[in-house]
Amino acid sequence: MIFWVEWGVLKTKNKKGKIMSQRLLGKVAIITGASSGIGEATAVRLASEGVKVVLAARRVDRLEKVKRQIESEGGEALCVPTDVTRRDQVETLVQKTYQSFGRADILFNNAGIMPLSFMKKGRVDEWEKTIDVNIKGVLYGIAAILPRFLSQKSGHIINMSSVGGRRVYPGCAVYNGTKFAVRAISQSLRMELASEPGLKVTVIEPGAVTTELPEGIQDQEFKETFKSFAATLTFLEPNDIAESIFYAVSQADRVNVEEILVMPREQGN
Ligand code: NDP
Repeated sequence: MIFWVEWGVLKTKNKKGKIMSQRLLGKVAIITGASSGIGEATAVRLASEGVKVVLAARRVDRLEKVKRQIESEGGEALCVPTDVTRRDQVETLVQKTYQSFGRADILFNNAGIMPLSFMKKGRVDEWEKTIDVNIKGVLYGIAAILPRFLSQKSGHIINMSSVGGRRVYPGCAVYNGTKFAVRAISQSLRMELASEPGLKVTVIEPGAVTTELPEGIQDQEFKETFKSFAATLTFLEPNDIAESIFYAVSQADRVNVEEILVMPREQGN
C-alpha cells in the first residue's frame, strides 16, 4: 500500500483507487438506522474511507442493499438486524461487532422516528414510540458500548439530535423533547468522559434533510402543515450530513467536535 501526506494528513488508496484518510483506515463503526437516509449515507461515506461498517436497523432487505453497494465500491460491511427499542438486541449488535471485527471505534446512535402531530390530538401511542426509539434507543446504545470503550481507552459516540434539539416548533413537542434530551445526555456524557483518555462524544443537529422521516407523520392535519413547510425551502441531502460526520470522526485524537448544527441555507429557524 502506498501512503503520502497531504495537508498534514496521511493518505492512501483503496483497491478501487479511491483516496482515503489513513486516520480512519481499518476502524469499525456501528451505525443504527443504516437502512435509509442519513444512516445509509454515512455508512457509504465512512466505508469509502476504509471504515468497516456495521449496519443496524429493522428492514433487513434495505440493510443488505446498502451492504452490497458498499462491497461493490471495495468496502466492508456487516448487517445486524436490530430494533433499538430492544435493549437485548442493541447489546447483541455490539457483541456481534466485537465477534466479527474484534473491535469498535465509533457508535453512531442515529435511528429515529418523527410522527409529528399537535398535542391536542392526544396521539399518546406515537409519543411513547418516539421516546422509545429516539431516547431509549440512544441510551441502550450508550449502555452497550461504554464499558468496552472505557476498557479499550478509545471510542467515539455520535448521537443524532436535530435543530429540533435547540429550537421548538408547534406540533413537534414530543419530537423536540426527545432531541433536547439527546443533546442534554450527550453534553453530560461528554463532561463525564473528559477525564477518560481517548473517548469522544459528538452530537449532530441537522435541519431539514430529504429522507423517509416525514413518512412517519400519520396525522392528516400535520401532514398538510409539513407539506406547506417543505414547500418553502430546499432540503439538505443525506450526504451533506454524512460529510459532517466524516469531519467529526476524522480529526486528530486531541480534537473533539462537540456539536454540529447543519441547516439548509433557507431554513432561518
Ligand atoms: P429515515 O427515516 O430515512 O431513517 C430512519 C432510520 O431509523 C431508518 O434506518 C430506520 O430503519 C431506523 N429506525 C427507526 N426505528 C427504528 C428502530 N426501532 N430500531 C432500529 N432502527 C430504527 O430518516 P433520517 O435519515 O432522516 O433519520 C435519521 C436520524 O436523523 C433520526 O434520528 C432523525 O430524527 C434525525 N434527523 C433527521 C432530520 C431530517 O430532516 N431528515 C433532521 C434532524 C434530525 P428501519 O425502519 O429499517 O428500522
